[in-house]
Amino acid sequence: MSTAAINACCLTSLSQSSLIKNKPNNTTLPRLSAIARLTSSSSSSSSSSPPSLIRNEPVFAAPQPIITPSWREDMGTESYEEAIAGLKKLLREKSELEPIAATKIDQITAELQTSVESKPSSPLIERMKNGFIHFKREKYEKSPALFGELAKGQSPKFMVFACSDSRVCPSHVLDFQPGEAFVVRNVANMVPPFDKTKYSGVGAAVEYAVLHLKVETIVVIGHSCCGGIKGLMSFPDDGPTSTDFIEDWVKVCLPAKNKVKAENGNIPFPELCAVCEKEAVNVSLGNLLTYPFVRDGLVKKTLSLKGGYYDFVKGAFELWGLEFGLSPSLSVKDVATILHWKL
Ligand SMILES: [Zn+2]
Repeated sequence: MSTAAINACCLTSLSQSSLIKNKPNNTTLPRLSAIARLTSSSSSSSSSSPPSLIRNEPVFAAPQPIITPSWREDMGTESYEEAIAGLKKLLREKSELEPIAATKIDQITAELQTSVESKPSSPLIERMKNGFIHFKREKYEKSPALFGELAKGQSPKFMVFACSDSRVCPSHVLDFQPGEAFVVRNVANMVPPFDKTKYSGVGAAVEYAVLHLKVETIVVIGHSCCGGIKGLMSFPDDGPTSTDFIEDWVKVCLPAKNKVKAENGNIPFPELCAVCEKEAVNVSLGNLLTYPFVRDGLVKKTLSLKGGYYDFVKGAFELWGLEFGLSPSLSVKDVATILHWKL
């Protein structure tokens, strides 16, 4: 049974009494909406059975959930008004429902409305809600052709590795539109080497992007003031770690740290970190070469690799290319300066 089917069973099994007993609070609102929709659609196929809204025994006993969603808001839809309208429509159409039931449900919905209106949403919820409303109004509804195409599928030209840092979203920095870039973000925008067990998350993303989406270029974008790189440069190279994940993760680019320290040992620490922010990109580009399907794409010239660096202090962006040759003597450093522009 699908999740949707299970949910439908759970929802239609709610008895009227349990509905009425529900304390009026903002948790019940979406449930009412769902019941209204589900019972409306199910009633047409079985007109002889009692309305599921007043069915008095469960048709499916769901296991106790480990996590109980407290509530849900349908952003961009008038869920509350829809719920009330749906219930009223149902009551009009269903003569079997006693008038008393209609009165009770009206009371509940009125109380719910009062409860919801009197309890202000959290600022974070409001922020997300307003953000989606803005997106929907200014982008989604203004580009029906684009979003119509995206509903059929995606075919991005770019795969992007960017840092999770909140200041460096590649869709903002490079103005990628929906459908343009398949993005992986992680601490310090690192690409680990091919490893089926240790780094399967990144591996799955690269495999999907290259083999199925057939992206044409993979861009690894470093950035200024990167906390992940600062950590890499600060943490001891070996011995016990003080973090559960961070130190092990950023050591993916340990070769960059070693190289930068060896070549720039005397410069101040912030500058050392800035150099490492770029060198770590090159290590990630080198790690991409350990993925067989990436190498195949490079050999066939259906794929290219590029390094990028976004300096949000200066408002600058650099891009450089990695030219892949079959000669094993070429190091990343040798080939990473083939294409290079700065803005
Ligand atoms: Zn970062």
